[in-house]
Amino acid sequence: MVNNQALSPAATSVEYVLDAVNAVAAYGSKTILHQLNLHIRPGEIYALLGANGAGKTTTLSLFLGFLAPQSGSIRVNGIDPGTHPAEARKQFAYIPENVALYEHLTARENVEYLLDLAGQRETADTIANSLAAAGLAPAAFDRRVSGFSKGMRQKVAIGLALARKVPALLLDEPTSGLDPQATTEFNRLLSLLRQQNVAILMVTHDLLSAADVADRIGFLEAGRLVEEVAAEGQDRFDVRLLHRRYAGQA
Ligand code: ATP
Repeated sequence: MVNNQALSPAATSVEYVLDAVNAVAAYGSKTILHQLNLHIRPGEIYALLGANGAGKTTTLSLFLGFLAPQSGSIRVNGIDPGTHPAEARKQFAYIPENVALYEHLTARENVEYLLDLAGQRETADTIANSLAAAGLAPAAFDRRVSGFSKGMRQKVAIGLALARKVPALLLDEPTSGLDPQATTEFNRLLSLLRQQNVAILMVTHDLLSAADVADRIGFLEAGRLVEEVAAEGQDRFDVRLLHRRYAGQA
């Protein structure tokens, strides 16, 4: 039985948890993102799609505080990751394409240790609740993660995000390499985080998965956000139309 109260994210009072306003990003003299405006509310899943080199990872880098914007602003739950990196880091969990865990530790020990690094102590019950809510089988809690599949690793990372009760989640290519069943399971976990009011930004090439779970899909082209489409009705998105758009045929 999952204790949802223990997993509720930190309260947030801002309208947009992940907020980029006219953000310009550059590497050296090369401008990568041009006046990016991206506004993600609590409890919203936003999928950012775009061709290779469009600037998706650069967008994540701005929110992660790895890169400061040349102009414009970036806020994570109201905090500027450029000027207050430690404070900003407390506001989000980040799940990279390949989740890095301590291989010789068990799933439970990883969450405990990573929480400790984030300055957070939780009871064994809360950690077990988080892993269970993330869909990890209890039999795997005390196994070393060295033998875990990509999907299982992601569950540990989501379990950590749940235990950290962060208002924002950033994901880089979360479903690449997952089979359809694992992708569906992963999307179910994202929906669980949405129910808990977490603002989620995922960058992906996986249009089908994005259409399944996202509330909005944004298309980035050569560093410009050229289109945003919101889910509507039972079918949510016109996937064929989006595919033509994404493949540059519309
Ligand atoms: P992909 O789908 O291939 O991961 P992407 O949309 O995530 O692509 P980015 O990784 O954000 O794209 O790259 C955008 C542009 O910035 C590319 O032209 C890339 O070569 C350039 N770039 C990325 N990182 C750096 C860096 N550290 N130094 C210089 N240029 C970089």
